[in-house]
Amino acid sequence: MSKLSIAETFFSIQGEGRHSGTPAVFVRVAGCNLSCGAVGRDLAEVNPTEDDPVEGASWICDTIDVWRQPDNVYSTDEFIDELRARGWIENLLEKDAHFVLTGGEPTLPNHQEAWTDFMNRFEAVFGETPFVEVETNGTFVFTNDFLETVDHVNCSLKLSNSGHSIDDRIKPEAIGQLQIFDQTQSPVTFDWKFVVAGQDDIEEVNDLVTSFNMENVILMPAGLSREQLKETYPRAIEFAKERGWKITGREHITAWDKQTGV
Ligand code: SF4
Repeated sequence: MSKLSIAETFFSIQGEGRHSGTPAVFVRVAGCNLSCGAVGRDLAEVNPTEDDPVEGASWICDTIDVWRQPDNVYSTDEFIDELRARGWIENLLEKDAHFVLTGGEPTLPNHQEAWTDFMNRFEAVFGETPFVEVETNGTFVFTNDFLETVDHVNCSLKLSNSGHSIDDRIKPEAIGQLQIFDQTQSPVTFDWKFVVAGQDDIEEVNDLVTSFNMENVILMPAGLSREQLKETYPRAIEFAKERGWKITGREHITAWDKQTGV
């Protein structure tokens, strides 16, 4: 049975997207196939709050220092024990808290397999499962078994402002699978979430929305601090109004500014 390689786990609220405001147990897995804003750098040396993004990027991944190595590796039963010890099973099963599976990139094949094993065990132990949201960069195809464990997908395709080449960040095969959830009535709900700062980003989002015929589009203002959001949030709202898309804030930044894991 695969083990969960976890960078951090914490109980908070979902701060972004259509379920914003919902209490949630965050499971942040270790590792990502991308390194937004730090392409080509040694990740061990990246400090997202101090460093500038690399040339060609306008922002830097705010959790890179958390997910670059696992804090702990758990068997399925060990992770259930950990959730019990922290008192979060009650939140998940009796108080409708969500699981938010995030990263790093939770759809890396090893994470999909480990999460599937964990959720199957969770159901065997408790006879039910909580609502599961996955946050993904949309570069991997989901396995059918993994999909069975998921209720909602927040897919945040990366733009050129991440510093990544289009070939690294846009994978038509993976997007093709996600389009099915976007465009059909499916038990799995779905949103495309784009982080935007200015007009260039919006033009790029527009090209992707047109090319892939995207329906559930949500804009999120770029920014890692309240100060930065003050500038980008009103602009993102204007873009959303113009194009007929939705907008999401970043509640955790509004509440805690630059702190992560809260
Ligand atoms: S895809 Fe997400 S987790 Fe990975 S580097 Fe980019 S922002 Fe960070």
